[in-house]
Amino acid sequence: MLDIIQRLHEQLDLDTIRLTGGEPLLYHDLIEVIAGIRSMGISRIRLTTNAFLLQRLAAPMEKAGMRSINVSLDAIGEETFFLMSRRNSVQRVLDGIDAALAAGLEVKLNAVIMKGMNDSQILPLLEFAFSRKIRIRFLEVMAMGHLHDHSKKYLFTQDEILQAIARRYRFAPLDRIQSSTANYWQTDGGPIFGIIANETVPFCHDCNRLRLDSRGNIYGCLSSNHPIVLDKTDDQDALREKLGNALAQKQALRFTGSDLSMLEIGG
Ligand code: SF4
Repeated sequence: MLDIIQRLHEQLDLDTIRLTGGEPLLYHDLIEVIAGIRSMGISRIRLTTNAFLLQRLAAPMEKAGMRSINVSLDAIGEETFFLMSRRNSVQRVLDGIDAALAAGLEVKLNAVIMKGMNDSQILPLLEFAFSRKIRIRFLEVMAMGHLHDHSKKYLFTQDEILQAIARRYRFAPLDRIQSSTANYWQTDGGPIFGIIANETVPFCHDCNRLRLDSRGNIYGCLSSNHPIVLDKTDDQDALREKLGNALAQKQALRFTGSDLSMLEIGG
């Protein structure tokens, strides 16, 4: 994996590497991978996690060069947390977040909001984030994997999320940063929150991400379920051509859905 990243970095001068999953904290050589990426001179290494193993791994990750993590947290009430994750013990996630903050990591929260499932959790999650002085992004549900054909019934839109937050807070929009997936708002009290509105406010026009799966295949777009297979024998010309093919997968307007699961292609 490090060899592939090194070769991609030589071609693309990568700015940020984000380790996703599945669950990256389950990967046995995670600390070595972080240190290896760091040694290539890529300064921004990020990671998206469910935080179940974060208490143990936060400090070693920080030492290896990790600076910022995203924690997926879709609910803070125990019942809804179980409904969303099929796991008990939200407290373990919260303890993981506190351990990460104590280790000096920047923490952001990602909460996928699904109509009728966890839309009641928007304000409790926001208040938790504000209490810890961390940034939270709410995500519209995506038509991927098992939700490919029926995500619409769960869609809770950016407008609906803003209406829910407006019941307790006044806020104003901030300028969008180029290639950012999230739109941000600042509350009157100061804290900022974001929304990743993949469905209702698509951001394909300046998407600059490339995905590498655990088999060493690349994808230029979440809408594509056609892996581009990298081969150890590819020379730089062959690699450049494959990168061009991957980037040609990008959509002009919007995400069109995929039967691939996020577990396979990375969040
Ligand atoms: S659908 Fe593809 S091009 Fe559009 S934002 Fe997602 S990954 Fe980028």
